[in-house]
Amino acid sequence: MVIQAPAKIRTVSLTIDGVQVTVPEGTTIWAAARNAGIDIPVLCHDERYDPVGVCRMCVVDVGARVYAAACVRPCEDGMVVTTASPDVERNRATLTELLLADQPARERDPKQTTTGDNELLALAERFGLAGPGGLPTASGRGADLSNPVIAVDHDACILCDRCVRACDDIQGNDVIGRSGKGYATRIAFDLNDPMGASSCVTCGECVAACPTGALTNKPIAGIPIRPRSELDAVDSVCPYCGVGCALTYHVDRERGAIAFAEGRDQPGSKSRLCVKGRYGWDYAASPQRLTTPLIRRDEAYPKGPLSTDVRGEMSRPEGQNGKRRRKPGGLVDYGEVLPHFREATWEEALDLVARRMTEIYAGGGPGAIAGFGSAKCSNEEAYLFQKLIRTGFHTNNVDHCTRLCHASSVAALFEGIGSGAVSTTYGDVVNADVAIVTGSNPTANHPVASSFFKQARRNGTTIIYIDPRADKMADHADIFCQLKPGTDVAFYNSVMHEVIRLGLTDRDFIARRTTNYEALAETVAEYPPERAAQITGLHPDVIRRVARAWGEAKAGVIFWGMGISQHTTGTDNARCLIAMCAITGNVGKPGSGLHPLRGQNNVQGASDMGLIPMFYPDYKNADDPDVRARFEGLWDTPGLDPKRGLTVTEIIGSALKGGVRGMYMMGENPFLSDPNINKVRKALSALDFLVVQDIFLTETAEFADVILPASSYLEKDGTYTNTDRRVQLGRKVLDPPGQARVDWEVVQDIANRIGLGWSYSSAREIFEEIVSVMPSYTNLSYDNLGLTGKLYPNPDPEHSDGTVVMFGDKFNTDDGLAHLVPAEWLPAKELPNDEYPYILNTGRLLQHWHTGSMTRRSYALDAIAPRPEVYLNPDDAAELGLADGEMARVSSRRGTIVLATRVSHREGRGNCFIPFHFREAAANLLTIDEIDPFGKIPEFKFCAVRIEAAEPAKAGDR
Ligand code: SF4
Ligand code: SF4
Repeated sequence: MVIQAPAKIRTVSLTIDGVQVTVPEGTTIWAAARNAGIDIPVLCHDERYDPVGVCRMCVVDVGARVYAAACVRPCEDGMVVTTASPDVERNRATLTELLLADQPARERDPKQTTTGDNELLALAERFGLAGPGGLPTASGRGADLSNPVIAVDHDACILCDRCVRACDDIQGNDVIGRSGKGYATRIAFDLNDPMGASSCVTCGECVAACPTGALTNKPIAGIPIRPRSELDAVDSVCPYCGVGCALTYHVDRERGAIAFAEGRDQPGSKSRLCVKGRYGWDYAASPQRLTTPLIRRDEAYPKGPLSTDVRGEMSRPEGQNGKRRRKPGGLVDYGEVLPHFREATWEEALDLVARRMTEIYAGGGPGAIAGFGSAKCSNEEAYLFQKLIRTGFHTNNVDHCTRLCHASSVAALFEGIGSGAVSTTYGDVVNADVAIVTGSNPTANHPVASSFFKQARRNGTTIIYIDPRADKMADHADIFCQLKPGTDVAFYNSVMHEVIRLGLTDRDFIARRTTNYEALAETVAEYPPERAAQITGLHPDVIRRVARAWGEAKAGVIFWGMGISQHTTGTDNARCLIAMCAITGNVGKPGSGLHPLRGQNNVQGASDMGLIPMFYPDYKNADDPDVRARFEGLWDTPGLDPKRGLTVTEIIGSALKGGVRGMYMMGENPFLSDPNINKVRKALSALDFLVVQDIFLTETAEFADVILPASSYLEKDGTYTNTDRRVQLGRKVLDPPGQARVDWEVVQDIANRIGLGWSYSSAREIFEEIVSVMPSYTNLSYDNLGLTGKLYPNPDPEHSDGTVVMFGDKFNTDDGLAHLVPAEWLPAKELPNDEYPYILNTGRLLQHWHTGSMTRRSYALDAIAPRPEVYLNPDDAAELGLADGEMARVSSRRGTIVLATRVSHREGRGNCFIPFHFREAAANLLTIDEIDPFGKIPEFKFCAVRIEAAEPAKAGDR
């Protein structure tokens, strides 16, 4: 066999085990042999890491005086390689025997799990050797069980450094090194700390890399991990963030449970996972799953919040001593809430839903009905949900949590370039020489995407990180700008001012592909660095440095998160980023472009499907008569709503005023996720009828008339579209518990009860309809999505992964040009004053998701991040008299919460950060419901608060 190298690359030809091979110059013998189908055993090597050649298992005979390590030795012209001569094999057997002699006996060590992945034991088998020697642990290297889900057995470690390279080179976490000397040498976490107390983020990459079982997964929820050969492998996609990592669940069918998960190769995740994907799947097996339809008892009216916390005691009045009853895991107290409901059959519950929604619609018209779908549900479910609301109730009052995340980014992108989707993938960062990451904490919120950023920097990309918090990304940045919260427009206007002053714009691009440049230039001329410095708190030279780096970049890309979008100036912030790219010609070529990092796993897909009040599927304007006529034809439904519907925040406001009276909530929990909880509480109480379809009893479900038990992500087939526009297949892993049902089937049953006559028989069939009505998804099918999914648009999915870089020739606007929109800096709506002197920023933690209903029921995630904390700058904490762990009382004009203090050098002075996952200290009790006028997104990232010590409560008391 001759392996042909691509033309124009310098090649070398050699013979490996009698096979003539031609490979590009620089190829290692190991890689050349692998390409020729010849297996050379390794222990320290993995093709994803730089080779180190320390274990010597891969030695081969190249006719020289000593054997060569195939993993590091490059091929040479005319080389003759023998990979498995009797002497080479004898060498390997001896090496294996020596390593085995020092291994602990597996059976004596119950913490060791056996997945059949132990490469050292596999070699022992290959060479016919006995098992591990089981020597006493004379080295004293010992074990480390301090991490909740990873066990470290130092005695089983052969110091191959695969874990070190996995942690450093792949995930960029830089946690593992070595400590000790000679025989006592062992891997070390940070400064030889216990793993559980180190900076380890429990991504599990080191476990996946370890060839000897020195690093292993501990069983989760007491389910022992059996050998992989005894488990079913189901290829799916992670259900948490918009990165959409490909993974495989290994399922113990006898126990009906997942045993472990591992990353799977896909262009956007390359087998990597974070702690949520790798260890956060056991929520589906929680005994708290809803398994039966529930109807509110007659005596439980009038409606209102049922559990103690939701009744308002989260905002403990001044003067109480801070002691609170601890809810199990900080979750809804089922014992308090469930007695207000009775079990019902599906027939009864669905009949009631259909009857009450129809009555409200008949009495109040389309404006009386609204629906919240979910970005956690599949494309098929999102599509059917919006179709039900639009065709069944003739209203566009349908929305989901995109309103709370990137609505302003999408508004600016549609206005500027005619498309709300990313213009390039996050993996394209590898082609950028400058990448700006702004208003985003990707190491927590998009961890695997952040590993691509960190890797790109190692390969020479300049990373500029701009954020009020010095999140971990700041540790990996070449330039870090810790600007004051809410000053982004001033900052970017000033950067553009400097880019223009230095003559670093792309004049040709501006002339050919943009409009309104003059107005933009006039506006940014008013933002010299000295002025912007006063607003942002940055030194003018830092702004100049950013401008020069950005202006001189041959390819520059901007990634942003909710620190940009969740402001009352969110659309203006995103307009600035669009202008930054456009005036420097940084759109439409590799390594350049605009990428709002999407939050939830399917927020891109749910928006694509039309789960938003202003657009039909594929972003067709809801108030365009031609579009409406098309969908009336496609859906065989005359009389669709001619005007745009209400957004999430507007629906809440309407419910308060008696406008919206009947709501269908599929997988959303606005009680905790929306701003100003007190207002949401009143709105939910005011509804005439609320049906909640969910997998757990959420805070919102306490206000429901009917609760429908839904299926978790793991219990159904469906497609999901990630932040890159990658459409992937999620496959059914487990059966739904009890009477819980697949969501799209429930939506269809309601549709048919109100006379819509649907007859979808599978998710696949719904996807076929989606593709038929959505030009963006043209050519995609369940059959061609395959294991890695496809990017859209995709002219040839059989042969192509899809379009990475969009807008190479023109934008999606009517005239094909980018419309530059100048923005003036405006301060946030609620500024600090003497009474409320601190600025509150809210967001997510690495370990938790949204309102915590899934992640707080995951053993690993809850164990690592069990409680709410307010993050304070050390100087602020000292001034307030608060030490780490002490209870603080945080108040805004809307409420008060009490939670533990986390002293953090990552916060700027005068700022504090509170994650919004925790109902027992619900951050959204404090947030303001002021919204961006264009995207209608609330200002989650800025409101004024007061912080005091909450004596005498101690950390852990709630
Ligand atoms: S779990 Fe991840 S962060 Fe922790 S040591 Fe292993 S590779 Fe590094
Ligand atoms: S990065 Fe996102 S998609 Fe990937 S494993 Fe983590 S949560 Fe899941």
